[in-house]
Amino acid sequence: MNEKLRRLRAYAPVEGEGCVRLDANESFLPMPREVLEEAKAAVESLAYNRYPDPAARELCAAFARCYGVRPEQVVAGNGSDELISVIFSAFLMKGEAFATLEPDFSMYAQGGALAEGRQVPIAKEDFRIDVDQVIRVCQKEGVRLLIFSNPCNPTSLVLGREEVRRLLRGVEGLVVLDEAYMDFSGQSLLEEAGDFPNLIILRTCSKAIGMAALRLGFAVAGEPLSQALRAAKSPYNVNGLSQAVGASLLNRPALLQQARERILASQRELAEGLRELASQRPGRFSVLPGETNFAALVMEDGGRVQKALLDRGVAVRYTGGLLRVTCGQPEENQLFLRAFREILEVRP
Ligand SMILES: *Cc1c(COP(=O)(O)O)cnc(C)c1O
Repeated sequence: MNEKLRRLRAYAPVEGEGCVRLDANESFLPMPREVLEEAKAAVESLAYNRYPDPAARELCAAFARCYGVRPEQVVAGNGSDELISVIFSAFLMKGEAFATLEPDFSMYAQGGALAEGRQVPIAKEDFRIDVDQVIRVCQKEGVRLLIFSNPCNPTSLVLGREEVRRLLRGVEGLVVLDEAYMDFSGQSLLEEAGDFPNLIILRTCSKAIGMAALRLGFAVAGEPLSQALRAAKSPYNVNGLSQAVGASLLNRPALLQQARERILASQRELAEGLRELASQRPGRFSVLPGETNFAALVMEDGGRVQKALLDRGVAVRYTGGLLRVTCGQPEENQLFLRAFREILEVRP
């Protein structure tokens, strides 16, 4: 086995059969009835013996209408995870430098390692992105590709639009802006995707949109870049059922808006419960002021707390030095808050 494979480890989701799942930042909402009906019709009528549309035209058109971009700028992927790996293999040459802003989403390091890039990890102070520092390091290290999530997983913090624009103007290489959680924030650069020749924006249907099982992600970029991506991906990367069901939901922006509001209400409730607990125990932990569907907790013994929660039937994730708790149904949030309160009674 070669060197790059020996160092890789398979992604390990939190185990927890029968647990309350607040560990993967999924939506807690079921698929709306009317979309389910259309999905059933799609199952009946799909041409199973034929390859699906390689350009996923109807799906990309639905996404474009929903988000106010041009369909030519949109490329669909088998989850944005696939697009991350296609971007690394297509845009990075062996030995070239790529930068990540740590802590951030773990798939970036994996994609870069498989493409045999040289990782330049830039540590965030207090979990915040310092645009000047990033520009400086990228220049100094000759970075060809910078990738980061905004809002960030796992910190939940968002970098304002104007700061992202400043970053885009200051960095020479390709910038991959992963907006997986931007449905929960107002700082998207989607409508400006074509204005920056070095920008690819990633979006996903796995978080706010609630279709993690279907594996649907999108890359949005100006035409030279979106054409290059279309050429680099495997032709039939998005299966026919996912294309049909994805288009059906994206064609109903009112349903998406309702879902977003319910998730945001749950997130507010979770954050309020956490802030109350934090104020009763000064110095024990703090909650970062995020704009996502999860709460990021700074606490010294986060790893221990994650295990103790799992013992009590609540799965959350401990990553990047943060305890990350996805918001859930009201009763799931309450269950988590109760278990967390009990655990906090025990001194580390
Ligand atoms: C969840 C997540 C993704 C993965 O999305 P898929 O479309 O399900 O592959 C990408 N980026 C970030 C930052 C995420 O948190």
